[in-house]
Amino acid sequence: MVKPDGVQRGLVGEIIGRFERKGFTLRALKLFRPSKELAEEHYKDLSAKPFFKDLVDYITSGPVVAMVWEGNGVVASARKLIGATNPLNAEPGTIRGDLAIQTGRNVVHGSDSPENGERETGLWFGEGALVEWEPSLKPWL
Ligand code: ADP
Ligand code: MG
Repeated sequence: MVKPDGVQRGLVGEIIGRFERKGFTLRALKLFRPSKELAEEHYKDLSAKPFFKDLVDYITSGPVVAMVWEGNGVVASARKLIGATNPLNAEPGTIRGDLAIQTGRNVVHGSDSPENGERETGLWFGEGALVEWEPSLKPWL
C-alpha cells in the first residue's frame, strides 16, 4: 500500500514501477481514503503502542493506493524492496531508503507474512477482488 504521504508526494508511479520491474504481477489496485475502523483493524497488533493513534491518524489522513502483488516469494521480497521500518535504517536502493526520512512517514506498507497478506487482502479488498490475467503470447508492438 502506498500510504497518504506517498500519494501526496507523487510517488505512486515510482513505487508501483519498482514492483513491476522486479517481476511481480498486479492482481488488484484501488485508491481510496481508509476509514478509522479499517485502519484500526489493519494495525490491531500495534494497538498497545504509544504511536497507535498517530499511526491511525496518518493512514486515514488521505487516500492510499492499496494493491495486491503476486509472484515467487513476493511477501519476503516486497519487504526487502520496501526496506526497514525506520527509513534512516533502510538501505539505499530500497523504497524507504531512497524516498523517506521518518518512521511515521515511511510512504509504503507491505504485509509481513503470507497469512497477513491474505488477511489484509480480505480487509482492504473484500471477496473476489483479485483479477486473474496472463500476458498475451502475441507481441503488442
Ligand atoms: P512495517 O511497516 O515496517 O511493517 P511495523 O509493522 O512495525 O512496521 O509498524 C507499522 C507502521 O507503524 C510503520 O510502518 C510506521 O508507519 C508506524 N510506526 C512503527 N513504529 C513507529 C514508531 N516508533 N513511531 C511512529 N510510527 C511508527
Ligand atoms: Mg508491519
